[in-house]
Amino acid sequence: MQVQVLGAHNLESRDSRYVSLLIDDVLAIEAAALTSSLTFLAQQKLKAVLLTHQHYDHIKDIPALGMNFLLHENTIEICSTRPVYEAVAAHLLNDELYPNFMERPPEKPTIRFRVLAPNRAEQIAGYTVLAVPVNHAVPAVGYQVTSADGKAVFYSSDTGPGLADCWQQVSPDLLVIEVTAPDRYEEFAHRSGHLTPGLLGQELESFRKLKGYLPQVVTVHMNPVEEKDIADEIAAVARSLNITIHLGYEGMKIHL
Ligand SMILES: [Zn+2]
Ligand SMILES: [Zn+2]
Repeated sequence: MQVQVLGAHNLESRDSRYVSLLIDDVLAIEAAALTSSLTFLAQQKLKAVLLTHQHYDHIKDIPALGMNFLLHENTIEICSTRPVYEAVAAHLLNDELYPNFMERPPEKPTIRFRVLAPNRAEQIAGYTVLAVPVNHAVPAVGYQVTSADGKAVFYSSDTGPGLADCWQQVSPDLLVIEVTAPDRYEEFAHRSGHLTPGLLGQELESFRKLKGYLPQVVTVHMNPVEEKDIADEIAAVARSLNITIHLGYEGMKIHL
């Protein structure tokens, strides 16, 4: 399994992209750096996209992806929970903001939206996918994606502290987890459902206590304005846990 970080940040510019991951060129998680990172050819290789929650910085490429697939006469599966389906149908693909690619063309709609139930493993694009609820400002799920040869990545989505229930259900080789802001924003992190380096440290300790090991850890969703402070604080957390934590970056590739 190859996991590619297409975007690793919570702000977009020429040099930073919203979080999106690409697994083996065929399965994407989040749709916020897909059209800007991938050629048309690479986009057409996508079989499915998993969405974690409805926030704009995680879904923004869906209309563009829909138009690209429509004009290439191709189809794509978009998978998420019911609240995300309802938000996308109401606000994004509603025939007002942009065409409803879930019904166009009528004979073979471009986007097939698959509603996933949390905590139930599903086969998607040749992978076993498990959606696990996490703590965020709106309903959100993280995804464990397991390949046919048994390698697994868990991506946390945007999440605040309190992942113990989630850890019970997953056993990844690679953990891609959000760290949005430095430790001085801990109060904000609790309020808005995000992690700081200090809060990440507590969640990793809880993981190790419950599971008896720690996977490879890569952080995403960093605020680029604060990235220096976040990096310093993550380095301190890694030292205290005696592990390595890598900050994700655009173009990063991890082989499992
Ligand atoms: Zn969010
Ligand atoms: Zn976000």
